Amino acid sequence: MGPGPSDVHPRILEALSRPTIGHLDPAFVGMMEQTKALLQYAFQTENALTMPVSAPGSAGMETCFANLVEPGDKVIVCQNGVFGGRMKENVERCGGTPVMVEDDWGTAVDLQKVEETLETNPDAKILAFVHAETSTGAQSDAKELVALAHAHDCLTIVDAVTSLGGTPIKVDEWEIDSIYSGTQKCLSCTPGISPISFSERALEKVRNRSGKVQSWFLDLNLVMGYWGSGQKRAYHHTAPVNALYGLHESLRILEEEGLENAWARHRKIHLALKAGLEAMGLTFIVDEAHRLPQLNAVSIPEGVDDAAVRGRLLNEYNLEIGAGLGALAGKVWRIGLMGHSARAKNVLLCVGALEAVLSDMGAPINTGVTLAAVQKALQA
Ligand SMILES: *Cc1c(COP(=O)(O)O)cnc(C)c1O
Repeated sequence: MGPGPSDVHPRILEALSRPTIGHLDPAFVGMMEQTKALLQYAFQTENALTMPVSAPGSAGMETCFANLVEPGDKVIVCQNGVFGGRMKENVERCGGTPVMVEDDWGTAVDLQKVEETLETNPDAKILAFVHAETSTGAQSDAKELVALAHAHDCLTIVDAVTSLGGTPIKVDEWEIDSIYSGTQKCLSCTPGISPISFSERALEKVRNRSGKVQSWFLDLNLVMGYWGSGQKRAYHHTAPVNALYGLHESLRILEEEGLENAWARHRKIHLALKAGLEAMGLTFIVDEAHRLPQLNAVSIPEGVDDAAVRGRLLNEYNLEIGAGLGALAGKVWRIGLMGHSARAKNVLLCVGALEAVLSDMGAPINTGVTLAAVQKALQA
């Protein structure tokens, strides 16, 4: 129950162990086509360029920046946690100029500040933001941010690593231009693959670049020779065949459950965890309107030893919860409810174990009321 990787579904573990076939084997090519269609469903898009990058979420991030940012491009980057900072790094390494819009950690990206920045930077080409900030548990308004960007002739790069499968993301309806995600968060697959999707509008910019994409491996013009449809597939790199069996299975599980049902399950399980933690007296750092169901950041009570609690949860209860990152290190715990981890059983274990450990350490919490609160929320 950390901030990823989440528990991997047993069906995915089984899929990973199947015999490895060639990355150009007709059976594998058939599975690639199915995977692309399933990813289109997960992202809610008809974008033809919707595919998995053969590397973790960070590589999906680099794919978007490396292909879309040309030297000299001005890019507005929203930062309200760790991952916005990485976007800035990406812009700089592509030779672009980042213009930062900073918000406090634990808050959503401020739409008004973004609008003002777009107005004062009419030459900006791209707006980049993180939809679900895993470092804080805050969700930003992707639909409105994209609308603002388009009103000012900017393309968008959206980080949906923690969002996909856990909270609504509607690529076509919200007109997102480019988006990347990861397998090890709400898709409950093993780490190491990054689903991406690019709109026609974004591809236009990639095709009309004045210079080559600086990264050979991530250059979509080349990658599409292998992943694209309607042409003869050519070797680009040896695809991580078994990891892709895993992704394919995870997307089938998502399709069987139904996206809306998966979003509703994350929300329901989050409300149960919230009921238990609040009954204990713990408080969330993100205000209710912007709280992510799949990443719960709670303040560590005064005088409690952060690492000691996490260590005891791990060693005595076989339960991992996440530490705070950056500005929030030592101040919060990050409890993940992602994908297959978002189950009632985990909430009961987490709340029960946390209560046992904290009360044993003499922390100022309420005892004896948490499980009833969780049960009540689960029955709601
Ligand atoms: C996890 C995460 C990433 C990076 O994904 P990796 O698979 O660890 O490379 C990027 N952005 C966000 C918001 C994340 O939560």
